[in-house]
Amino acid sequence: MSGLSNKSILSVILLLLGTQLSAQSILLSNQIKYSKNISSHVMFFEDITGEMPFEEVRKNTFKGNKGNRNFILPFSNHAFWFKMDFVREANAPESWTIWFTNELTENIELYQYSVSEGKYILNDKWDILSFRTKFFKGQEPFFDFKLTDSTTIYLKIKSERALSGIFSVGPTSAKTSVMMNLFGQRAFVNGLLVFRILLVLTLGLFVVKDIPFRAYSFLILIKTFGYWGLINALVPAFVNNPEVAQKLNYLFYSSTPIGTVLFSLAVLPFFGLPSWIKKVLFTFLALTVGINILVQLDYSWQFLQVGMGISVFSGLFIALVFAYSAIKRLPIQKYYAIPFLLGLLSYLLMNVRVLLQVQIPLVSNIAFLLFAAEIFIFIFFLGRIFRDSQLKNILVTQELKNKEFQSERLKELDELKTSFFTNISHELKTPLTLISGPIEELKKAYPNEKLLKMIRPNISRLQQLINQILDIQKLEAGKQNPHIIKRDLAKHLSRHVLSFESLTSSKSIALNFKQNKQSFEALFDEDKLNKILDNLLSNAIKYNSKGGRVEVDVFYKDQPKSFEFSVSDRGHGIAEKDLPYIFDRFYQVSNANYQGSGVGLALVKELVNLLKGKIEVKSELEKGTTFKVVLPADEVTWSNYVNDLNERSSGVLNSWKEVIYSEPQTEPDESDKELILLVEDNADMQEYIKSILEQDYRVIQAFNGLEGVEKASKEVPDLILCDLMMPLMDGFEFSKKIRANVASSHVPIIMLTAKSSKESRLESFEIGIDRYLTKPFDADELKGAIKSGLKSRKNLKALFTQGVLDTGNVKNEVSEIEHQFYKSLKAFIEENYQKPSLTVQEIAKAISMSETQLRRKLKTVSTYTPNEYLRKFRLQKAENLLKVQGKSVSEAAFEVGLENLSYFSKIFQQEYGCLPSEY
Ligand code: ADP
Repeated sequence: MSGLSNKSILSVILLLLGTQLSAQSILLSNQIKYSKNISSHVMFFEDITGEMPFEEVRKNTFKGNKGNRNFILPFSNHAFWFKMDFVREANAPESWTIWFTNELTENIELYQYSVSEGKYILNDKWDILSFRTKFFKGQEPFFDFKLTDSTTIYLKIKSERALSGIFSVGPTSAKTSVMMNLFGQRAFVNGLLVFRILLVLTLGLFVVKDIPFRAYSFLILIKTFGYWGLINALVPAFVNNPEVAQKLNYLFYSSTPIGTVLFSLAVLPFFGLPSWIKKVLFTFLALTVGINILVQLDYSWQFLQVGMGISVFSGLFIALVFAYSAIKRLPIQKYYAIPFLLGLLSYLLMNVRVLLQVQIPLVSNIAFLLFAAEIFIFIFFLGRIFRDSQLKNILVTQELKNKEFQSERLKELDELKTSFFTNISHELKTPLTLISGPIEELKKAYPNEKLLKMIRPNISRLQQLINQILDIQKLEAGKQNPHIIKRDLAKHLSRHVLSFESLTSSKSIALNFKQNKQSFEALFDEDKLNKILDNLLSNAIKYNSKGGRVEVDVFYKDQPKSFEFSVSDRGHGIAEKDLPYIFDRFYQVSNANYQGSGVGLALVKELVNLLKGKIEVKSELEKGTTFKVVLPADEVTWSNYVNDLNERSSGVLNSWKEVIYSEPQTEPDESDKELILLVEDNADMQEYIKSILEQDYRVIQAFNGLEGVEKASKEVPDLILCDLMMPLMDGFEFSKKIRANVASSHVPIIMLTAKSSKESRLESFEIGIDRYLTKPFDADELKGAIKSGLKSRKNLKALFTQGVLDTGNVKNEVSEIEHQFYKSLKAFIEENYQKPSLTVQEIAKAISMSETQLRRKLKTVSTYTPNEYLRKFRLQKAENLLKVQGKSVSEAAFEVGLENLSYFSKIFQQEYGCLPSEY
């Protein structure tokens, strides 16, 4: 800063001139009608102390202004004294006015000789702070003075801020028109600026919505405020606080570089420019903000000078970068860049002059021309900007449409694929079950056959894949619901994960399982959780290498209950580019080494969503993959799924009572079909048999003997199919239990077994097993066995039906327990049939059965419902009364508990074909 010290610059200018001009008198004639620039006639003296008293100043030599039409004052706290000798022509006016044309002059004083006091006195003063008192005089400092012949006037200017200004003088009578003229100019420029702001803001907000336009609009906004700051426009708004106005003025005009830098950042073609340019721009931004803050804290000439330095240097730098880009033929947005550069040049010219204290001829005029050119050229370019923006809009909409179209096509294709796979899967499922059931049996019959061992895993793979595709389709169609149970989750997970141990050890992979609790009672969907785990684990094993490692970490949380588990491997990992797609259906990372379908993770994702959880994946090539799943397990989340009526149909026996939550699953009413209970521990066999029977019968399943006994008693099926070899309770024991229970004692049982020894056959017949089917059997064999099993009960029915009143002749045809059932039923009715109020409920209770059990049992053994049976019983009794004992109709009806005579007559007629009175 010292190198460019303001004082020394001034001295240099004066030295260059070589001579010291003597004071020239300024002639005030009546030729001066308006106002006249007198700057070249004004002498000046710089008081570097800034404090020198007037009398001392007068003793100093004043220097001439070397013919310049203006004065440029530096940033400093010096005082600048100006001396003007006025001589009045005879017929010229006596009242004159002096102007100094700079609105931001901070402090200016006028000293004039007072005849009354006989010395020079401070006659008038103006400072920006006392502006309020001079508000109506206009915004530039001016002083009125009178003279008769001649006078010398001294003006003292003190301003921290550097200034450029002109001294001019004119008759006081012309003051109003001078001010009006100035006001007019200002109004014109302001009008232009306001118009420009409104124009760009409206267009930027509603029409041309691209970034360069908005950046330019923002720049215009900032520049307009900058202009208002420079003309001190804020003072009228802050008449009571001019100090604030002064600082705000500064804030306004010194923020222009912010707009300039931001605009450059938005528009410059940085891809083709050295990267440090951006950094320099950001530095300018930071410096501008910093210096603004400093000036707000301390309004001193040093900070003001630095502020202007930054703004000039940033402007120059930006202009050079634009020029460089243009030379390099980089795409600069010329419709914005050209007006921007014109404005920037205008700004630089005005500021370089005061910053470097140099006179530039006609600078104000050139700057004003550039300023006007910016506005008009931009308006001229607007047409092209519009055209370009419209073109761009059209292209963007077209591209958007294309993209939409494409994504729709992709979606359609995906749906098509899914529906294709679903259909195929349905087709494949049945034959596959029909293959897998018999294979299972063949394996039992020929345990050493190696070929069979090879078939099994591949059938499983196929089955799993088909089930997964069907699951996905069901999930997507919203046909799958959470089936929530309350259990010890920690036990379940450890058991389930560790069941993979044999698979991992066969591939020489270490399996680690860790959890933060050993017991954790929680609500979860066992089946879906297993599916999620199975998929993640089998991927972790599949995409691992020999000697690798798979880790499962579980973290249980209370309040609200939830759990988080991760499955990690140190295998091949997934490339970053593939990661976003691995959960997509049928997506596979291209790798010839692995077989896959791309269905597993898609299913996992759907399942996790259904269970209201989240899944994340992290992976690095050659380092490994970690899948993390978080699932809720609390009552609040699953409260809507409470339904105690549903029972879990799982093969795993569970000893403790469990609360069962599930969405109600409505089954179609198939009550016309006969009901078959299938008791079989092998899931494949279950599926196989079910697939054979589903068409013609209603099938309920039990996966072990205990479950079977329970279901048989509750549902009273028409027939039971039971496997002989089952864990916990074998087929014989099961059958004994069935036969011992009144509700189910009559149900025909077909035993399925691979055993075909004579003894076992004998044993089964002793227990009362109706039929014996040796595995492997085919569909027709099974169907035939079932048909004849059901038929045998039909014969029984005929016997029962005949003997509603008489049990004697059926006694030999049925087992003891049936006989007992029949006897006690009949005995109770015999005793109570005369009570008109007798209900089925009472009957069932009397023989220790539920109404359902009674209804189903009676229907199977007699074709009657309990009500029909009771009615039939009463009618037979009444018939006896009428025919044998010769009782009247009303007596007979009354005695058998049928009080309603017309009803009695009606049912009697239905049964016997004539009215009771005609009987
Ligand atoms: P599939 O395994 O049948 O191909 P998935 O849906 O299970 O289908 O997985 C999709 C893809 O994600 C796989 O093809 C595989 O490339 C990648 N992937 C999944 N899990 C892992 C893993 N643990 N490590 C490496 N890659 C994996």
